[in-house]
Amino acid sequence: LMQLSVPLNFIGFVYREIRQGLTDIEQMFDLLEVEPEVVDRAGATELQIRQGAIAFKDVHFAYDPERAILKGISFDVPAGKTVAIVGPSGAGKSTISRLLYRFYDIQGGSITIDGQDVREVTQTSLRKVIGMVPQDTVLFNDTIAYNIRYGRPSATEEEVQAAADIAQIGTFIQTLPDGYETKVGERGLKLSGGEKQRVAIARTILKAPPILILDEATSALDTTTEHEIQSALDVVSKNRTTLVIAHRLSTVINADEIIVLRHGTIAERGSHADLLSQNGLYASMWNRQREATQAEEQLRKVREND
Ligand code: ADP
Ligand code: MG
Repeated sequence: LMQLSVPLNFIGFVYREIRQGLTDIEQMFDLLEVEPEVVDRAGATELQIRQGAIAFKDVHFAYDPERAILKGISFDVPAGKTVAIVGPSGAGKSTISRLLYRFYDIQGGSITIDGQDVREVTQTSLRKVIGMVPQDTVLFNDTIAYNIRYGRPSATEEEVQAAADIAQIGTFIQTLPDGYETKVGERGLKLSGGEKQRVAIARTILKAPPILILDEATSALDTTTEHEIQSALDVVSKNRTTLVIAHRLSTVINADEIIVLRHGTIAERGSHADLLSQNGLYASMWNRQREATQAEEQLRKVREND
């Protein structure tokens, strides 16, 4: 790492000087930030995937030793089931997804997939079985077809288009002047947050991984887009082990288990109905979001009558 410090300083200098347009350097910085010194263990074996059951056991994690982020988290995502993680912003939800993908190593406990510790297997074999639809998708400065096909480079044109259709982005792509050959990304056509997310979903549909991590889009999306994305996600997660991080609770009503995370601990857990009857944090979050949605609808009606 010491050897890297000089070139990094230099890049930092260049970066500050000519920041505009240098998306690749920005991406590189992102990578450097999220992938520190996680390395394959000597003699690491390939992950042997069966049904893709996930188990977090007493997981402790901190980015910085001074500040614990996860303080002993245990939960299972049985094969083919969907578990949702909800909770206030900063609770550690996205951290859980990064740990499953092994962007970082934990300080205590274990994370296993089909009984194999993620630290014991090669990162390549681990990441091959996980499809991640992140909160903010960064697209490559290439064609929209390239960006979708990235999920499975051997996919045919028909398969790329079928995936785009399932992700509800196919019709939109056809309206673009160059269709699937349209250049996107910072140096091409700029897609909206919802469009980028659907490209990421199409990519994941092509990858067809046994395990899915969905870090849902935020309130930046309007309700129509949210519904479209939700139905696309439902198709992808069917019969796959799915960990979904939810901002809007309306999207997790059907999850097999909902985990409410607060300050790095599990505050409540259960089905939607269980949690409502507990009348705790989840119930208050639910009521608050329902009021917000109702207010939004009323506002829309008022506007329509104008
Ligand atoms: P959530 O997804 O629930 O909003 P995150 O898992 O992203 O929360 O973050 C949990 C906490 O960890 C936050 O306080 C956040 O500031 C901190 N955090 C996230 N990423 C990093 C990082 N790379 N380095 C240091 N702290 C981080
Ligand atoms: Mg998050």
